Amino acid sequence: MNTTPSPSPSARYNFLFSSSSASRALPPSRALSLTATATLFPSHSSPPSSVSLTTSFSFFQNPNFITGNSLFHSMQRFCSGSSMSRNKAMVESLQRYGVIRSNKVAEVMESIDRALFVPNGAGAYIDSPMSIGYNATISAPHMHAMCLQLLEKNLQPGMHALDVGSGTGYLTACFGMMVRPEGRAVGVEHIPELVSSSIENIQKSAAAQLLKDGSLSVHAADGRKGWPEFAPYDAIHVGAAAPEIPQALIDQLKPGGRMVIPVGNMFQDLKVVDKKSDGSISVHTETSVRYVPLTSREAQLRGY
Ligand code: SAH
Repeated sequence: MNTTPSPSPSARYNFLFSSSSASRALPPSRALSLTATATLFPSHSSPPSSVSLTTSFSFFQNPNFITGNSLFHSMQRFCSGSSMSRNKAMVESLQRYGVIRSNKVAEVMESIDRALFVPNGAGAYIDSPMSIGYNATISAPHMHAMCLQLLEKNLQPGMHALDVGSGTGYLTACFGMMVRPEGRAVGVEHIPELVSSSIENIQKSAAAQLLKDGSLSVHAADGRKGWPEFAPYDAIHVGAAAPEIPQALIDQLKPGGRMVIPVGNMFQDLKVVDKKSDGSISVHTETSVRYVPLTSREAQLRGY
């Protein structure tokens, strides 16, 4: 979101939830320190470092806080080194803290330089959602990592993946790298300008070839309807919070498929929806989150 709301009790509540849930995913030896400290993404050669509780208070003062989950806020460090080495350092940091547990997810996130997807490349490796215009944000790196991790088994080579609310195209590009060769990654985004810029971003990235050969595509449309052309999907990710899970997305999920979707309004949960082989679904809550709404283009452009 472009707005800069002041931190609210609900936002604080939300953060506390997400931070404790994130710590659940961590090795026990690290969980405690994470709840009390913020982590810096180091330059690629530095050891992991942490800042004191005092710094973590800035979580509640940062305008980005309201726009998404931020596990390791205040990670800002203007490090030296090439863009790709800083991207690698970011991925290594997410690995050290247990957010990324699979080598494949790490490899893919290392191959797709986040700086190509953030406006002007500024602050690309900070673990925070950032405005991308049109009242939208690029999600924080740890949320991208968490969703890739949750979907990993459904992002095997040859599988079909749908990214609803694809925004910058970052996660669509990662999906393409996960499912290649012979898989298919589809992004659906309802702001045409974001569709165009996301295609430009992907063209500069390691996923460019996938766009060229047609196994990755981004479409301007209402993502609540999914994208039937390439259904059914093994993996569906929704990057904006729906008041309820859209039936069209459930219908386009393959038996054995998994969808990760934030659900709610003021209070939101990241839901994991698994479709069983008999077509029935099970839903569990992964963590509390804060995403921009999955809504109409008009509502989004007027500020919801
Ligand atoms: N996951 C993306 C963007 C997250 S922001 C990234 O990290 O870059 C959520 C995105 O969902 C925004 O780009 C917004 O424009 C889009 N969106 C919201 N409602 C939508 C809808 N009904 N159909 C398609 N896209 C939608």
